[in-house]
Amino acid sequence: MTSSPDVIVIGAGVLGLCTAAELAGRGHAVTVIDPGGPNASSVAAGMLAPALEALLEDMTPEQAGLLKRARDLWPAFAEAHGLSLHREGAEWRGPDAAAAVTRLRELGFEAKAMRQGLLTPDDWRIEPGAAMTLLSRTAGLSVVRGRVARLAGDARRWRVEADDGRTWFAPTIVLATGAATAIPGLPPTIAALVETIEPIRGQLTHLAVEGPGRVVRAPGVYAAPATGGVVIGATMEPGRRDLEPDPDEARARVAAGLALLGVEGEPGPTRVGIRGAVADGLPLAGPSGQPGLLLALAPRRNGWLLGPMVAQVVADGIEGRAPMADAAALDPLRLS
Ligand SMILES: Cc1cc2nc3c(=O)[nH]c(=O)nc-3n(C[C@H](O)[C@H](O)[C@H](O)COP(=O)(O)OP(=O)(O)OC[C@H]3O[C@@H](n4cnc5c(N)ncnc54)[C@H](O)[C@@H]3O)c2cc1C
Repeated sequence: MTSSPDVIVIGAGVLGLCTAAELAGRGHAVTVIDPGGPNASSVAAGMLAPALEALLEDMTPEQAGLLKRARDLWPAFAEAHGLSLHREGAEWRGPDAAAAVTRLRELGFEAKAMRQGLLTPDDWRIEPGAAMTLLSRTAGLSVVRGRVARLAGDARRWRVEADDGRTWFAPTIVLATGAATAIPGLPPTIAALVETIEPIRGQLTHLAVEGPGRVVRAPGVYAAPATGGVVIGATMEPGRRDLEPDPDEARARVAAGLALLGVEGEPGPTRVGIRGAVADGLPLAGPSGQPGLLLALAPRRNGWLLGPMVAQVVADGIEGRAPMADAAALDPLRLS
């Protein structure tokens, strides 16, 4: 099969789909190629959490500011694509809440002390499954089932070949393959960059219990509203790509989550996803330095939060527009 979109996006995770939807919204004909099935993005809890991520990861004000600006792109992006944002805020129930409130305010977030911890209105949420379905239905975008096995490019166009022999051609491709290893045929410098991406396994468990209606986080555990109940997560297991759930870990974390919420319930399915990350924890997003090849990779544990920012940076790069100020922090070549 041969077709000629303007842009081929390889990978239908949050970064691939947000980028494809942004491009389609700007009038480009976009084909997304993905084998289908669960990925890190569909497994995720969907927290858009600049405040508590900045607090828990002990970020600088500059790092926290980037996450907040990424979140601030969500209302317009959600409206453009018909996605529902949940802006109920998030609770932190941990030791020394007063110090945490002070720290959050120093980082530029709103927070108020509560009896059991603190509440910040700055962390929002999205339902990953529903959002991915809607993004993949964007006009001008088509999603094709397939696994890309080989790439070949010259100054004019890219040839994209699936493992079943189908081929597509486009002047521009976006690599959004998550934590996957480098696709054969990538330019050697880009293949080497992709191989620096570290996989970080994460698992979370669904429970059909009534939650508090917003994300609640505590040391080592969180509970987030999800379709039909809550999800209790999540592990951070660097270096692991295996997808088999660990039932002992899930049992212990669910017990901690139920204690956090003060409810009882039986665990539902445990799901595993593999996040990709590079040394500074920020995505590799934008032009790669190779003609017609852009990257949308490695958002670590904030892929949903960073989706619209990555999409904008990549789309601006494709159109040759002046990059937004935050694009420099995501430049794929910044670490080389
Ligand atoms: C348990 C867990 C909870 C999380 N919770 C949150 C959260 O609350 N908030 C948040 O912001 N982030 C969260 N994250 C992180 C977030 O899920 C990731 O940062 C994000 O999903 C990564 O998106 P991605 O598009 O880079 O990769 P992925 O979602 O992995 O998508 C990559 C896609 O590329 C495809 N692909 C790979 N190779 C090929 C190929 N050769 N050909 C075609 N397709 C290919 C894969 O099949 C896959 O579908 C969580 C992650 C986990 C694991």
